[in-house]
Amino acid sequence: MDYIKLASGASYFQSPEPAIEAAIKALRNGATSYGPTEGIPELRQAIAERYQEENIALTPEQVLVTPGSKQALFNVLSVLLNEGDEVIVPVPAWFGFHELLKYSKGVGVALNTSPEDNYTITPEALKQVLNERSRLLILTNPGNPMGRLYSKKELEAILKVTAAYPDLYVLNDEIYDCITYDRPFTSILSCEGANEKTIVINGFSKSFAMSGWRIGYIAGATDLIKKCIAFQASTMSGISLFSQQAAVATLLNRQSALAPILKILKENRALMQQALEELPHVNYTLPEGAYYFFPDFTYYINSKTPAGQSIKNGIALCNYFRDYYSLELAPGDNFGAVGFARMSFAVEKDKLKEASKRLKLALSTLQH
Ligand code: PMP
Repeated sequence: MDYIKLASGASYFQSPEPAIEAAIKALRNGATSYGPTEGIPELRQAIAERYQEENIALTPEQVLVTPGSKQALFNVLSVLLNEGDEVIVPVPAWFGFHELLKYSKGVGVALNTSPEDNYTITPEALKQVLNERSRLLILTNPGNPMGRLYSKKELEAILKVTAAYPDLYVLNDEIYDCITYDRPFTSILSCEGANEKTIVINGFSKSFAMSGWRIGYIAGATDLIKKCIAFQASTMSGISLFSQQAAVATLLNRQSALAPILKILKENRALMQQALEELPHVNYTLPEGAYYFFPDFTYYINSKTPAGQSIKNGIALCNYFRDYYSLELAPGDNFGAVGFARMSFAVEKDKLKEASKRLKLALSTLQH
C-alpha cells in the first residue's frame, strides 16, 4: 500500500517559477556571500509595500527578514522574555509554539478555545488568563490546526482587552494569510488598537509553497526590530541572498502565484469536507483559511483495533491509521486537543480520494 501523508505542514505545490528563476539568476551573478543582517533593501521594501497596499503604514526599517518564521518567533521570544514571563497561547495551537517556548525564558499559559463556538477567543476568557506577569499573547490567524479566520472586529476586541496591560505584546502569526476561502484576511496591523507592542510574524513557506527556502520576517516597531536585528547578527547573520531575491520575485508576482494554488485548495477543501461528512461520529468545523481540517475523532477513543489493541488517545489512533492503512495524520494531542487529528488537503486529489477511502475503512473496523 502506498503511503499517504496528510500530516505535513508543507503543501505539494511547486514554488513559484519567478522565485526559481530569480534564485538561479542571483547565484549566477555571484550572490553567494553574506548579506546585510536585516535583509536586502529590495525585500524589506517589497514586504513593506505589500502592507502599505492595505493602508498599513509599515516602513522597510520595521521589517527584519529571518530564516523562516520559526526563527522569527524564536528571535522575538529571545529578545522579549525575562525569566518567568507568561506567554498566552490560544489552544488548540501549532505545536511549534510549545517547542519554541522550551528554549525561552517564558512560561506558556493555555487559553482554551473550543470547536463548539468555532474556536472563538472571547474578551472574557482572555481577561481570565491575563495578569501582571503576562508579557506576550501569541495569536495565529488564520489558525493552525483548525483554519479559523479571526475577523477585524474580533481582533480589535482582543486588542481592547490587551491595551489594559502596558507590558504585554501581541504577536500575530500570519503565516497562512494569503490562504483564505470565503472571507478576506485582515492583518492585525490594520486594526484599531494596534501599536508599538503589536508584532506580526509571517513567511513564504505556506502561502507560496516555499518552505525549503527558509524565508520569514518580523514586522513591528522600529525599536523592537533593532533588538531583533542585534539578536540575528549574533546568532545567524543575514539569510541567503538568492533566497531573498526569490522572495522579492514572489512578492512581485504574488497574484499569479496564488491564483492556481487557491483554486486547487478550494476544490480540495470541498473534497475533504465531503469525505468527512461520510464518516460516522466525526465532527469538524469548516476551515476558512490555511489548508487543514481538524476533525474530532474522540468517539473512537477507547475503541479496539481488530487485533484487540485499545486506542487510548489520538496518538494511538493516528498510529493505527499509519500502521494498518499507511495513512499519516497529525495527532491533535500535539496541538492540545486529544482525540482530534489534523488533515492537510494541500495534497494531490487522487491521494485525497484514496485517503478518505482508507479512513472510512479504518474507522469501520474499529470495535466500539
Ligand atoms: N507558524 C505556524 C503557525 C506554522 O504552521 C509554521 C509551520 N508549520 C511556522 C510558523 C513556521 O514556518 P517557517 O519556519 O517555515 O516559516
